[in-house]
Amino acid sequence: MRLLLVEDDSALVADLVPELRRAGYAVDLASDGREARFLGENESYDLIVLDLGLPLMNGLTVLAEWRADGNRVPVLILTARDSWREKVDGLKAGADDYLTKPFHCEELLARLQALLRRSHGKVVAELRAEGLTLDEEHQQILPDAGQPVPLTGTEFRLLRYFMMNPGKLLSKTRLTEHVYEQDFDRDSNLIEVYVRRLREKIGKQRIETRRGQGYVFKG
Ligand code: CA
Repeated sequence: MRLLLVEDDSALVADLVPELRRAGYAVDLASDGREARFLGENESYDLIVLDLGLPLMNGLTVLAEWRADGNRVPVLILTARDSWREKVDGLKAGADDYLTKPFHCEELLARLQALLRRSHGKVVAELRAEGLTLDEEHQQILPDAGQPVPLTGTEFRLLRYFMMNPGKLLSKTRLTEHVYEQDFDRDSNLIEVYVRRLREKIGKQRIETRRGQGYVFKG
């Protein structure tokens, strides 16, 4: 996935770039509006993170011009704190999402992944947890070291849901709702069976049982 980061705050850039690279993005940088406009027009990106307060040409103008040219790349804008008007103007100009400064890098990454998922329809982004990647196209686990581990359809859906919700307490009922087709006989006890099988494939410690409450996936 290739991402254009448009930001003139070099300290923020220095913080974000390694995090974005770690999350699997190839990152291009632009530090002013004109450069951003040019790169967005001439390169193909999967995602753009666009600060609105930029030298030479402001981010809103850049965005409006991309959209006027028919560029549909998903754009997340970075807005100043307490500026609701920037958010409104940005969304009207064609932004897909926004994040208010200051923000946690985790939130940016999560929003970018969500944007990617929406924009790619069925061709979804990579889901990662420490030490492994979920290969969604082939429904298998790709450990950082070692051979791919195939998953059955249900194991795959369950793991994907866990990986999309790391650190959250997920009840058996909720897992059942998200893992099975609508008209499937929803026996939530089956979840226990599938959790056990997943643990055999990804390690017992990754899915913690909270007795009487559900499970927590350790991302
Ligand atoms: Ca700025």
